[in-house]
Amino acid sequence: RRSILGSFVASAVLAGLTLAAPLAHASKAHPVIGFCIDDLRVERWARDRDYFVAAAQKLGATVSVQSADASEERQISQIENLISRGVDVIVIVPFNSKTLGNVVAEAKKAGIKVISYDRLILDADVDAYISFDNEKVGELQAKGVFDAQPKGNYFLLGGAPTDNNAKMLREGQLKVLQPAIDSGAIKVVGQQWVPEWNASTALRIVEDALTANNNKIDAIVASNDGTAGGAIQALAAQKLAGKVPVSGQDADLAAVKRVIAGTQTMTVYKPIKLIATEAAKLSVDLAQGKKPAFNAQYDNGKKKVDTVLLQPVLLTKKNVDVVVKDGFYTQAQLSGQ
Ligand code: BGC
Repeated sequence: RRSILGSFVASAVLAGLTLAAPLAHASKAHPVIGFCIDDLRVERWARDRDYFVAAAQKLGATVSVQSADASEERQISQIENLISRGVDVIVIVPFNSKTLGNVVAEAKKAGIKVISYDRLILDADVDAYISFDNEKVGELQAKGVFDAQPKGNYFLLGGAPTDNNAKMLREGQLKVLQPAIDSGAIKVVGQQWVPEWNASTALRIVEDALTANNNKIDAIVASNDGTAGGAIQALAAQKLAGKVPVSGQDADLAAVKRVIAGTQTMTVYKPIKLIATEAAKLSVDLAQGKKPAFNAQYDNGKKKVDTVLLQPVLLTKKNVDVVVKDGFYTQAQLSGQ
């Protein structure tokens, strides 16, 4: 009797568990998507999450969002967990572009589609990549600074060495700067990558660069707004903020305010709603076996990855209203303290 009761309880528990784990009930009309984000503590990624989840739900999908908080191990175990929960698609913003090959292979073996989001996963069998044109972002950054300061000492503040975008940005930056480097018009007095794109690290790097060059730095090509913020803080301590052109990327609220104030020369606006919505469509299409429309291919070392490539927008003091017109910020947000 006890064992009958025991097995009854066990199957009730199992039934309960099954009910509590709706991820196992995916259907083609209602695919289940795992969205693995490197670091939700960074301003832009929370927007990606919100727009992605909203767009996916509209398409009938369910999304499970994970944040690795900049931990390689945590991201791998989150992906493994999604594989064992039997999701249909895993969309990944990799923390480390170089270390996900094995776990992506596991997902593919389990019949799961894998999409690389914003950052390319290298040496992995991903089904698709979606991003803004990162080389173009780098070109806009360098051009923005160069137009303001076409000679003198340049410091190149790169992104995270673990992020393939950092490399692509640098390629774009150098495409613009190389002729002026070759002619001697500008001199690169230092270049450094910033682990995890960390703003405080960027601040320290620029402090050191200013000291090493007796404050003779005429321009800073920073690869995103977080690191630009660190750089500008270091400049401000030397009363140089607003005198030394600095670039950025993301149209973070603080950065747009700095552009208005004149301490940051430009930022790059990437309409996050667009990438998130397109990625949600891409996910559902792949889950349903439809062939999505791609407009580029990137070699990730393992294969030529079909890519949806979106266009970034240069944002300066002159066209800052673009972010208000687009609903990215309200006017009140931009003028608020
Ligand atoms: C993204 C940037 C972002 C940076 C730090 C890059 O891969 O393209 O938009 O600022 O990561 O999170």
